[in-house]
Amino acid sequence: MKHVIIGNGIAGVTASEAIRMLNGTADITMIGDEIFPPYSRPMISHVLDGSQPHDKLPIRSEHFYDDLKITPLLGQRARGIDVDNRQVELADGTRVDFDRLLIAAGADPRPTQAEGLDLKNIFYLRTQDHVKQQTTALAGARRAVVLGGGLVGFKAAYGLLKRGLSVTMLITSGYPLSMQVDATAGRMILNELVCHGLKVEVGVSVRAFEGNGTVRVAVTDTGTRLPCEIVIIGKGVLPARDFIPKDKIDADLGVLVDDHLQTSVPGIYAAGDVAESVDIARDCRWVNALWPEAAGQGRVAGLNMAGRPVAYPGSLSRNVMRVFGLDVLTVGNADPIEDAGYRVVRSSGADRHFYRRLVLKEDRLVGAVMINGIEQGGVLRALIENRTPIRLPPETLIAPGFNFGQLLY
Ligand SMILES: Cc1cc2nc3c(=O)[nH]c(=O)nc-3n(C[C@H](O)[C@H](O)[C@H](O)COP(=O)(O)OP(=O)(O)OC[C@H]3O[C@@H](n4cnc5c(N)ncnc54)[C@H](O)[C@@H]3O)c2cc1C
Repeated sequence: MKHVIIGNGIAGVTASEAIRMLNGTADITMIGDEIFPPYSRPMISHVLDGSQPHDKLPIRSEHFYDDLKITPLLGQRARGIDVDNRQVELADGTRVDFDRLLIAAGADPRPTQAEGLDLKNIFYLRTQDHVKQQTTALAGARRAVVLGGGLVGFKAAYGLLKRGLSVTMLITSGYPLSMQVDATAGRMILNELVCHGLKVEVGVSVRAFEGNGTVRVAVTDTGTRLPCEIVIIGKGVLPARDFIPKDKIDADLGVLVDDHLQTSVPGIYAAGDVAESVDIARDCRWVNALWPEAAGQGRVAGLNMAGRPVAYPGSLSRNVMRVFGLDVLTVGNADPIEDAGYRVVRSSGADRHFYRRLVLKEDRLVGAVMINGIEQGGVLRALIENRTPIRLPPETLIAPGFNFGQLLY
């Protein structure tokens, strides 16, 4: 049996491990356009902020491919899939046969439109190469502009602030992390960042970058000129599916998968940031481009590819992060349109450093945001994941000291 995996990120890695666990002799080939051994993509933001060195990024040993008897085709890009002949076409024209294929190509940064994007020191933040170039560029930089207030834009701004740069963040929404948190939590996070020196302009985008070979100024669409020596663009990601034949493999935003992570073509699976599966909290198809989701989906896809039928329960958005003095936890559908059948209960502390918001639909918890006091976040996640009916009045859940563990029994 020939297993081929496109992508050697966390989804590809956990899939290969699952296949090898069930089958000691199957052929496994991994195609990856990055040359590094598997590494932690979220941790590149810690390299940017200076809290981790580059050499802490790998998540498996340098002997990973040998140990698992995997044939790595690194530095190679898949440019197409010949579904009828069961072959992957590489950029150099080589064709790789498969019996089972996993598409685990991750996501690409969402491109931005502006003049002067080819100037030096304008970066995306997605790969180990990007962060290597950024840490080099930091040497001569005092002022930075960050585009985007999503997870990556937010982490870039935070990292550059921690490096001591003067950072201006330009975001279209009113506060950072608007896909993860509601307005109240977003403003608390924003205040914390501003208190530590971040400048933020909302409802603004960049029209052009200027410089003499290297970026020196970002010009906003309102005409403001922001001097800068480094720019990081973090305006979200899009599933990396340019090479996938749309007439053969069903896709919407991501590659569509069923409850065994199989695509519309038998024997071809998808997992991780490239895949669109059912979201547990939203009860609809969704791309949750998150590390634990990619790891879990890779494992399930690998088991199914190796012949053990395992159902995938659905994906769930979740995140925990520290923003200077704030611990922030988000899970599920934390900021839905309220009049669409959702019930929201919230509480906040007098010191404005505590906030809790729970979102319910009918008798189920579907989302939560917590700022500080996040210890019970794991129980909240379990309630959402297990679709546990909540039999108590929602207001009691928000009371200080309420023990959510009681709801599990
Ligand atoms: C700065 C940053 C911070 C993040 N922080 C968090 C966080 O706090 N929490 C969280 O849950 N998630 C976070 N994420 C998201 C997380 O890293 C991703 O969800 C996860 O890495 C997805 O894994 P994947 O295996 O699906 O894809 P990827 O990690 O993107 O791996 C896919 C690989 O396939 C390669 N590839 C793509 N196309 C091809 C092709 N045609 N041919 C060959 N190879 C190809 C790519 O180059 C890549 O190496 C963060 C991401 C970034 C960039």
